[in-house]
Amino acid sequence: MAKSVLSDARFHNEEAAFAYVEAELWPNGPVCPHCENADSAKIGRLANVRSKPSKKHPEGVVRVGLRKCYACRQQFTVRIGTVFEDSALPLRLWLQAIHLLCSSKKGISTRQLQRILGCGMKTAWHLGHRIRFAMAPGNPGQLGGLGKIVEADETELARSRKTKRPEGFRRKTHNPVVMSLVERGGEVRSTMLDHRRVMTHIRAFVHKDSHLVTDQAQHYKHAPVATHEAVDHSKYEWKRGEAHTNTLEGFFSVLKRGLVGVYQHVDKKHLNRYLAEFDFRQNNREKLGIDDVQRAKHAIRGMAGKRLTYLDSSA
Ligand SMILES: [Zn+2]
Repeated sequence: MAKSVLSDARFHNEEAAFAYVEAELWPNGPVCPHCENADSAKIGRLANVRSKPSKKHPEGVVRVGLRKCYACRQQFTVRIGTVFEDSALPLRLWLQAIHLLCSSKKGISTRQLQRILGCGMKTAWHLGHRIRFAMAPGNPGQLGGLGKIVEADETELARSRKTKRPEGFRRKTHNPVVMSLVERGGEVRSTMLDHRRVMTHIRAFVHKDSHLVTDQAQHYKHAPVATHEAVDHSKYEWKRGEAHTNTLEGFFSVLKRGLVGVYQHVDKKHLNRYLAEFDFRQNNREKLGIDDVQRAKHAIRGMAGKRLTYLDSSA
């Protein structure tokens, strides 16, 4: 049997975990987050510095990956200024969590994460959400363009009718609806649908020279694009030459199996973060030659420079 990736040193040894993350975030050597000094002659390693004593570690623990900048005389590690700074959890556990989220097609529940990492429920939840946040594109560009096809479609996240409803469950609850845009052969972007903002959303994320394909939904009429074609699902029309939304149908089936099955109780206010996770895996999929390890590396790069925005978005 092939050796599991999870047996690699970076998942078990803190020094190896730091070396791995440093190689991703500092490809040209360490950079001081305080003064941006990147001159390696002016940055030293501090070995055997111990943290302050605590109840759990009365002697303190050796601070792995600690550096000192001789330009500004401050200390730092690769975690500073990244999403990794938000938890005291060892970096090797962060790497395990990232790997799990990047390699499981339908996502991974907080409970499962908690069991595998052996941490608390709250910690697992926070970890999951911070990683999802890092997976969202920092600066999402527009999809499509001249001669390119963009599909737009929605899907309702409803529980299976076979699922037993809790006592007193109201039949008429509003299930969240996801709206996704995909450039054929390109990237997907999903968001929770807000009927009033469909036009704004399309204007922001679809290039105006694109050819848009949708179903007959009213809110796509007058979409700000070069050309628009709609297939009429009510007349059992799913495909008319290039006009179809099959790319999104495929994506939605993975999304639904994940969100309805794994993440059974997704709060609407966190839905966009889960969607970022599914978009990320789709946009870094195997078919594009991106394997689990490569995908995790992309997520690690997303951890950089996003710390403050995370704090803002969760307020
Ligand atoms: Zn410095």
